Amino acid sequence: MAVDIPLRREFSFEYGRLEPVAPGIRRIVARNPSPFTFRGTGTYVIGRGEVAVIDPGPDLAEHVEALLAGLSSERVTHILITHTHRDHSPAAASLKVATGAATYGYGPHAGGRRGEQGAEEGGDWDFVPDVTVRDGDSVAGKGWCFEAVHTPGHTSNHLCFALPDDRILFSGDHVMGWSTSVISPPDGDMAAYLASLNKLLGRRDAIYWPTHGPAITEPQPHVRAFIAHRREREAGILDCLAAGVGDIDAIVDRLYVKVQPGLRRAAGRSVHAHLIDLVGRGIIASEGPPTLDARYRRLRS
Ligand SMILES: [Zn+2]
Repeated sequence: MAVDIPLRREFSFEYGRLEPVAPGIRRIVARNPSPFTFRGTGTYVIGRGEVAVIDPGPDLAEHVEALLAGLSSERVTHILITHTHRDHSPAAASLKVATGAATYGYGPHAGGRRGEQGAEEGGDWDFVPDVTVRDGDSVAGKGWCFEAVHTPGHTSNHLCFALPDDRILFSGDHVMGWSTSVISPPDGDMAAYLASLNKLLGRRDAIYWPTHGPAITEPQPHVRAFIAHRREREAGILDCLAAGVGDIDAIVDRLYVKVQPGLRRAAGRSVHAHLIDLVGRGIIASEGPPTLDARYRRLRS
């Protein structure tokens, strides 16, 4: 039976306005809607007076100007980056120039070759954090203290930021309410992603605020459904291989019956991520290196 993921797409906001969404949390949504960003990038502001900004967003001048207008009588002291995709980190550069705040992140973009476009919006190769943050590190400012949670999978440098006392997690693109995450090799890694989902099951966070779309108010069942969904997809891929369907295009045809044309490439990337994981576990083999164009077969059933 197909796994039922409780996706949520109802999302009220106004472009260009910094709006309160919870006590001590404000959000402004950038006008960069797409099949991968939903309505656009949600930039969060935490605190009051001296604030942290999470994911300043794409390189859109109107977005940074609207954010700064909303903070006209306040000071940005910290810029936190969940990961280096082009819809998340590029605006850190202009926000840093305007405010003098330091940037915090796991590290520069690590995926693939420079200039290679993944299925998503691509990597931001220019971002280098001023302060390198690792799993469990604290980042503190006036009235708030984040705990960094390293959650590789969507990208190798993905961080979630928790406010443990409030049981809040800013989940970036690792866990979203409106959609599953794109796992696009080489930087996207299915085994790491599943481990990072399991890591969240061991935590006590009561609400997730993802970068795209609405908050997730029942995170544990949501995360469990994502894990079940990927296990189901993996089983479907193994069934394809058992039936002799061994290349990514044919697997996508069989498993993603209703996929929109614009998302077909992303579906292929996700299948590829599963295949790389299965090769790594010794369950399947590829003819030659496990590339997008390779043929795959089962080793044992
Ligand atoms: Zn992303």
